[in-house]
Amino acid sequence: MSEQLFLWPDEQSGDRLSWSLSKDKRLRDCLRKYYLQHYVSRGGSQPTASPMARETFVLKSLRNRHMWVGEVVHEMIELALIAMRRGDGAPVEALVERGTRRMRAQYAESVQRLYRERPATACGLCEHEYQEAIPREEWKRQRDRMEQCLRNLFAMPLLAEVQNTPVWRWLALESLASFELDHATVLVKPDFAWRDAADRVVMVDWKTGKPRPEDEKLQIAVYGLFAQRAWGLKSEQMLGKVAYLETGELHEFVVDRQALNEAEAVIRASLKQMRALHADGMEPKYRWQSFPMTDSRATCGFCMFRRLCERS
Ligand code: SF4
Repeated sequence: MSEQLFLWPDEQSGDRLSWSLSKDKRLRDCLRKYYLQHYVSRGGSQPTASPMARETFVLKSLRNRHMWVGEVVHEMIELALIAMRRGDGAPVEALVERGTRRMRAQYAESVQRLYRERPATACGLCEHEYQEAIPREEWKRQRDRMEQCLRNLFAMPLLAEVQNTPVWRWLALESLASFELDHATVLVKPDFAWRDAADRVVMVDWKTGKPRPEDEKLQIAVYGLFAQRAWGLKSEQMLGKVAYLETGELHEFVVDRQALNEAEAVIRASLKQMRALHADGMEPKYRWQSFPMTDSRATCGFCMFRRLCERS
């Protein structure tokens, strides 16, 4: 899963609650950020939006350069897999070139601040919005990181395994899906899944960042909960794999009954907290006191809402 910035539709007042890993992470990172993202920005895409809602909507569309590389890498892998599904080749050189062109075009969009006019479609980078002095070499390093991730993927036996799997065994490719839990909609988007020769479903996630084993364990187990419901699988029929593309490492995660139960418990606890906050987050608007700022200044350094949240 990429950082999943723009995958989920905006919740509207009165909608049933939705849950996703990224929303849960926001909840755990900073309640103020969660509030800005999920409440204050509501309606911000509408012509009648208040200035505050519009500004929050624009800022929530931003990503930092590290997340940006992850998005481009995911996009290129998806293109490669679609080409393979068609029976076409997808040479890594062509993908690297395309990824480089994509990054150049998006960088230009961001420098020109086109995201202020078109936040839902134009690329916006926090570094440009907040006028951070990022040296040219650092931008180049990010492009190189994109290339390295793609080259590492193509060198991994995992990709050969995918290529050797008949496409009728492929089950999911970057597709948005959901299931129900505790009267909420749990949203998932597995990067890729297929049924292997032993008839197990292998669920894969591509990561461009550093390993976070606890987060990844939960993520794979949430995919497992989806697989149970969507494909009627038992836990022994599932296997999770996380490919760390920066290093070319592959970690396997067992999706057993315990992992599934733990994931369900995490979602239920998270939903309970979201529901309690949901009541607080309703009118009157901007109840800042119910959504305090995080104590972690490190988290703030990467936050797109720095200007709005009243943290000086
Ligand atoms: S800048 Fe820090 S305190 Fe403010 S919303 Fe972002 S993470 Fe939270």
